[in-house]
Amino acid sequence: MKILALNGGSSTLKATLRELDGNLPSAPPPPLWEAQADWGRQPGKAQIRVRAAGEVRSDSEVDIETPAAVLEPVLAALWSGPAKAVGGPGEIDVVGHRVVHGGHAFQATTRITPEVKEQIRKYVEFAPEHNRLELEAIEVAERVLGPAAPQVAVFDTAFHTTLPMCAKVYPVPYEWYEKGVARYGFHGISHQYASRRGAEILGRQPAGLRMVTCHLGNGASLAAVRDGKSVDTTMGFTPLEGIMMGTRSGSIDPGILIYLVRHRGYGADQLDRVLNKESGLKGVSGISGDMREVVAAIATGDQRAVLAFDVYVYRLVSEIGAMTASLGGLDALVFTAGIGENCAPLREAVCRRVAFLGIELDLAKNASPRMDSDIAAPNSRVRVVVLRAEEDWEIARECWRMMEG
Ligand code: ADP
Repeated sequence: MKILALNGGSSTLKATLRELDGNLPSAPPPPLWEAQADWGRQPGKAQIRVRAAGEVRSDSEVDIETPAAVLEPVLAALWSGPAKAVGGPGEIDVVGHRVVHGGHAFQATTRITPEVKEQIRKYVEFAPEHNRLELEAIEVAERVLGPAAPQVAVFDTAFHTTLPMCAKVYPVPYEWYEKGVARYGFHGISHQYASRRGAEILGRQPAGLRMVTCHLGNGASLAAVRDGKSVDTTMGFTPLEGIMMGTRSGSIDPGILIYLVRHRGYGADQLDRVLNKESGLKGVSGISGDMREVVAAIATGDQRAVLAFDVYVYRLVSEIGAMTASLGGLDALVFTAGIGENCAPLREAVCRRVAFLGIELDLAKNASPRMDSDIAAPNSRVRVVVLRAEEDWEIARECWRMMEG
């Protein structure tokens, strides 16, 4: 089965083609073909880089008229040009689209129909930047590939639909919940992969295992996973809640917003921009939302960078505590995504502060970890795993499961 996974992030679209034969290893086999393109841009120029069999075969620039239009030349590069991997669109058996917001309607991966598109459109109000773009991408793929290739939606919220009501409902008037204001949680595709892969690395079954998975990329969230199911998570109604991120604030006192509106003349758009793009590591350090640059500035003695790192660790540790309480204890802590995979000082600072839970790192392993391995000291009661985020692979697996019924 040839499966094309389309994963549109905040600025990059990744398209990955894999051929699966029913043997589904937990860790991904290398893709046959992959493309990366600028994503969600205003009309103008967009870059596309295509690899086949691991080698870069083409780098190009195209003119686009809508934010998702770059998908059309990306798809064409599958069957034409120097990176061609299939004879034509008819050879693609299924296309999996990452869709950020599936609300309460979608608890699992779903075949896309006109009704499903209508429902995804309803959630545009909840996730305007994402769902609108994803719908546009679905329509481009339908037009280019035709009806023969089934299109499947893999939702970032679906993994968290197992949250208990006490975690889903905010302590506000109940009618808000009835109108859709609830904790949905995000990064579910990554947390699902990380929890299954983490269990496998530890040689454990998901059943009986209590894990906190830490997805620490530009956006960042934690999930509390028990028996392979999400029971709590830090992101909420939007991906703005929870731990501190690169440029997002994470949770803050809602009273701050009331104050800013009432006394500082802030409106919705300005609050949106400041909390999403000018806060987090960037806002506190005044340097960058990129952890590498913050760590580099710490090495030069920059005190605001030190503070930004300390606030990041403090928030992360508080939420690991909260997730552990939701689980009733902790067996494994999993680090994944850009910061989780690569920032050894951050992992060390976090693990030192949660040592009271029975966590002890092997400092040498932490300093230069083998990817997808256990980096806890032999005596550590709680295991610590570092693993590469593989959302594209999880999307492909979901497509396989869906098609095989
Ligand atoms: P996205 O959420 O956009 O997919 P990534 O998962 O690629 O993002 O994570 C990006 C973050 O990872 C950035 O803050 C970046 O600085 C951080 N990062 C990547 N490599 C390192 C490193 N070696 N040390 C510290 N942080 C790193």
